[in-house]
Amino acid sequence: MDPHQDLGAFWMPFTDNRGFKVHPRLLASAKNMHYFTPDGRKILDGTSGMWCVNAGHGREPITKAIQHCAETLDFAPTFQLGHPLAFQFANKLADMLPEGMDRIFFANSGSEAVDSALKIALAYHKSNGQPERVRLIGRERGYHGVNFGGISVGGIPNNRRAYEPLLPTVDHIRSTYDPDVAYSRGQPPQNNAFADDLERVIAERGAETIAAVIIEPVAGSAGVLVSPKGYLEKIRAVTERHGILLIFDEVITGVGRLGALTGAQALGVTPDLITLAKGITNGAVPMGAVASKRSIYETVTAAAQSGIEFFHGHTYSGHPLAAAAGLASMQVYEDEGLFARATSLAPKWEEAVHSLKGAPHVVDIRNLGLMAAIELAPRENAPGARARDVFHTCFDEGLLVRVTGEIIALSPPLIVSEHEIEEIVSRIGDVLKRVT
Ligand code: PLP
Repeated sequence: MDPHQDLGAFWMPFTDNRGFKVHPRLLASAKNMHYFTPDGRKILDGTSGMWCVNAGHGREPITKAIQHCAETLDFAPTFQLGHPLAFQFANKLADMLPEGMDRIFFANSGSEAVDSALKIALAYHKSNGQPERVRLIGRERGYHGVNFGGISVGGIPNNRRAYEPLLPTVDHIRSTYDPDVAYSRGQPPQNNAFADDLERVIAERGAETIAAVIIEPVAGSAGVLVSPKGYLEKIRAVTERHGILLIFDEVITGVGRLGALTGAQALGVTPDLITLAKGITNGAVPMGAVASKRSIYETVTAAAQSGIEFFHGHTYSGHPLAAAAGLASMQVYEDEGLFARATSLAPKWEEAVHSLKGAPHVVDIRNLGLMAAIELAPRENAPGARARDVFHTCFDEGLLVRVTGEIIALSPPLIVSEHEIEEIVSRIGDVLKRVT
């Protein structure tokens, strides 16, 4: 890879294109816990790429499965046709998901999974004789990808501003961020005020107008905002009582990050629909999925007189390469016990990240499973600049972290060693001493 190549044509996503093209940060290869730059520098991956390479990079069983599939079945449509791998992967996920959540709709990204889940929710109520249930409830600081449904229910203002007006039938409940419980370890203590906010919206709009509530069990992209104890349980109880579907967006919290296939299983709360992406193929081939309760699938399919029941899908829904990568990834997770490994490493992880309390600029640290956030105080009149400097310096010194606003987000591959955990944390600590 030529580091001096022309970087002009690629309009990069969620990137400061002008800055990047002056000071590019290029990755040329990856293996296990590390990336390598074109000039051969080794970068320790503290973020599983982008929350997706949960089994580590370049895993042979996964690359072999993709290679084999590319040679035998490059593409097959899944509209009125099928191929074995898509069915096998759906069956595999169904076996691993909570009891009864055994109908899987495939998409190609988390964003598509989210919009598919919102459509399933709307279609379900129409099929179920309640067509007036059209409102969708998201949450402030929620991130649900970049499609129009996802940004409408999402609660990150910068992702919405340029595209408004969005879906007109959306409300947001308050985020679970509580500055009064800084440095909480794991789930913060119970605080009913957050879940009670859903009752406020229901009272205002009428439950009979609401189709679904969508939340992340831990808000990832907004900076690892962990649901307080009892919160998900309360949201589940309220939605159930009012006939509102509950969607957990588990694009980040899924696939082992919290110690189980889903956060729902790790935290013991079962929604009606779950979105997955990223780690389901270990990031090796794009794929998203919606896991649905069988009763929802049956209601939607039974309502159609005949023919197609759900007018939605993608050319690449259940793409052979993605399904092959997905099956191989699940095998690696299982063979190596990586979900259980996340659980067993979590206390060490928690201890390590919280050791940064008292480091320069740090104002909060949060963690759950193998994810964590280190929040910094902003520089005056330059929001995000300090964390951005940390990101750049860490990269220059051989560590990949992720930043969102003034928050350093960490989510290492589940194969991370205890020694590498210490390395991630001590490098960040060193960099914090040097950034202004
Ligand atoms: N939902 C959540 C919770 C996410 O964190 C993300 C991406 O980070 C998405 C949806 C969107 O996924 P994608 O970028 O694959 O479209």
